[in-house]
Amino acid sequence: MRWDRTDIPKIFLCLLAISVMLGLCMQLTAGKADSAQPETLPTGRQLPEEESLEMEHNIIQIESEMPNAADDAGESKLIALTFDDGPNVLYTERLLDGLAERDVKATFFLLGKSAEAYPEIVRRIAEEGHLIGNHTYSHLKLTAGNEAKFLEEINRTGEIIAEITGSTPAFCRPPFGIWNTRYEQRLGIIPVLWDVDPRDWCTFDTQTVANRILADCHDGAIILLHDEYETSVEAALLVIDELKQQGYTFVTVDKLLIDP
Ligand SMILES: [Zn+2]
Repeated sequence: MRWDRTDIPKIFLCLLAISVMLGLCMQLTAGKADSAQPETLPTGRQLPEEESLEMEHNIIQIESEMPNAADDAGESKLIALTFDDGPNVLYTERLLDGLAERDVKATFFLLGKSAEAYPEIVRRIAEEGHLIGNHTYSHLKLTAGNEAKFLEEINRTGEIIAEITGSTPAFCRPPFGIWNTRYEQRLGIIPVLWDVDPRDWCTFDTQTVANRILADCHDGAIILLHDEYETSVEAALLVIDELKQQGYTFVTVDKLLIDP
């Protein structure tokens, strides 16, 4: 086949049409890829198998997509300690003393029933600059059948904490990490999971708990602990001393999730 000059505009038009079609194809593919993304939240980690529940599709496990900034030399590494299930009459104040001595702020996800029982500890947590979050009233695990009760517990706990501290928590930690994304708008609350779990509830050895945290911690990590155990409180203070030496700065979870 031979080409002459009169074919040039045809060839040009042909090439133009091909490139427009290719462009359209690429856009369509990209759109599909976006819509195929699983629902994710900016916080937390994937739950272990045994904690997951078979539930209706819109109750999800929140996948890990933590900020994981580079450990650039000279850049401050941020880390958040979180304490669930308090306030505890035996150990929370001891923890608060240790945090104050070290000038460290942490996040406390409180149970409504315990906040009601020990309002003076809740007040102290707030006054000392720590962040308070909501952990339901009775440590209720969300299931497909108890949605109304779960919402009621979150609201009730928010009211109890607001009555003591003057402000309603903006963050919650759903017990067992089970959450429904629809609640975020409905309740105006942000769920916060974790990505370092030293399993302090089943290892009552301070050094083991501390070692597990040290082995897994990284810039942007949210560490799960419970201030109802003496060993967890001791481990937290050990870890603070060690990680400060490594250049970490301890912050409340809002600093990791909201600030850039
Ligand atoms: Zn809990």
